[in-house]
Amino acid sequence: MESEATRQPLSAGLYIVATPIGNLGDITLRAIDILARCDGVACEDTRVTGKLMKHLGLSKPLWRYDDHSGERDRARLVESMATRAVALVSDAGTPLVSDPGFRLVAAAREAAVPITTIPGACAAIAGLTLSGLPNDRFLFAGFLPVKDKARGDVLSGLAAIDATLIFYETGPRLTKSLSAIERTLPGRAVSVARELTKLHEECRTGSAEELIAHYEAHPPKGEIVLLVGPPGESEPGDFDIDALLRDALETEKPSQAAARVAKATGQDRKTLYARALELRR
Ligand code: SAM
Repeated sequence: MESEATRQPLSAGLYIVATPIGNLGDITLRAIDILARCDGVACEDTRVTGKLMKHLGLSKPLWRYDDHSGERDRARLVESMATRAVALVSDAGTPLVSDPGFRLVAAAREAAVPITTIPGACAAIAGLTLSGLPNDRFLFAGFLPVKDKARGDVLSGLAAIDATLIFYETGPRLTKSLSAIERTLPGRAVSVARELTKLHEECRTGSAEELIAHYEAHPPKGEIVLLVGPPGESEPGDFDIDALLRDALETEKPSQAAARVAKATGQDRKTLYARALELRR
């Protein structure tokens, strides 16, 4: 490989660079090349990116940037892209995927800055490929909300989607999310892909109930991708309508509960409204 001193500088613009999600061997040749030739790196955490640069034997100015960075900082960074090659990285994986960068890319695009992407590791895709769940159609939905009601609402909003669902999750919240999936998306295959590309990588697929039993006995450590298989052919009839209505009735009027469950399951709203009234009694 060329030495840093002999590499040609890059043309000015924004370079979106994916970095590893655990195993440092997963950095691409192109990512190393861009990080070696850029004028500076915009990153979430300068300590995390500093370690990666050190591992690669590279030294570049590191500029802290995340989606909480102010409008003025963003504008300054975009302005600098007129004359400098700026690499955007996140702490791990693909920037913008549940990570900062969306506003920066939108602003750079608006300013007609040349932008290119250097793809690489992404935990959602790594988890999907490992899970054995159908992958012809999938929907990535980021992190589930922390609060029970909001989490249930998001899951019931996704119930009718004919695709594998992918979420990012943390160890302490895993069993709560699995319980919500058991209630809201009954009968689905579920996968927990943990510590991908790292020493203790594991992927477990089963029913939500089986996974709850396992992870209650073995509290999970590390980073997690949680996947839910699509509704099966026979599944529309498998919705636990009463459970969905009861959940919704905890906070909503029967008419609203019926509308929500109708949207999630594709079932008739009037029939659901009648059932909601019965359950309320
Ligand atoms: N941008 C990253 C990507 O492309 O995957 C994701 C960043 S998001 C802030 C971090 C979350 O991604 C973690 O909480 C976890 O859910 C998931 N994740 C990241 N690395 C992982 C790994 N090695 N194994 C499993 N999940 C991982």
